Amino acid sequence: MSEPAVTVARYLGTTTAEGPGVRTAVWVQGCTIRCAGCFNPHLFAVEGGVPWSPAELAARVLSEPSGGLTLLGGEPFDQAEGLAAVASQVRAGGRSVLTFSGYTHASLRRAAAAGRPGVAGLLAATDLLIAGPFQRDRIDHERPWAGSTNQEFVVLGDRFPDLVHWREGAVDRLQVDVDRSGTVAVNGWLDTDRLDALLAALD
Ligand code: SF4
Repeated sequence: MSEPAVTVARYLGTTTAEGPGVRTAVWVQGCTIRCAGCFNPHLFAVEGGVPWSPAELAARVLSEPSGGLTLLGGEPFDQAEGLAAVASQVRAGGRSVLTFSGYTHASLRRAAAAGRPGVAGLLAATDLLIAGPFQRDRIDHERPWAGSTNQEFVVLGDRFPDLVHWREGAVDRLQVDVDRSGTVAVNGWLDTDRLDALLAALD
């Protein structure tokens, strides 16, 4: 039986703003967690996005000049079955997988133990999990990539042996892309005040 398609809201072939080194970032459509203050409320609805077969998506990721895949959302574990297939193929191709989730690691382990489809598989194919809901009253100004201080860094695989080194040397980055039509697309992490100031400066 083939895995379900993955609904992709945004695909970025290379970025240095979504984890250690150069990575391919995939934002999935749909999030049932809906944290207050989420930066991506347009990704809450399951409607929208573009369906990709897991095999197509994994092949595209493996064609990029990047060190691995970062899954963001939306909520990756709301599409765990399809993404487990993508992530395992990316790892089989020698790349790393970083998965962001609004669920805590403990709740994901419980879901995996209860047999929720794809959850055990996506955990097994994730090297670094950054887990927990975004809490806007606990903005994280210290750790790269995390939005709020409650979020956990959980090393699950062997592809980030230098994570401590990466975190010591890393800073939050923001990537701003402007296409020929003038459309601005932003990714990475910056708190709201600094992001507003930057976008105002961009006019
Ligand atoms: S889990 Fe992530 S995408 Fe979902 S509401 Fe929270 S911050 Fe936003």
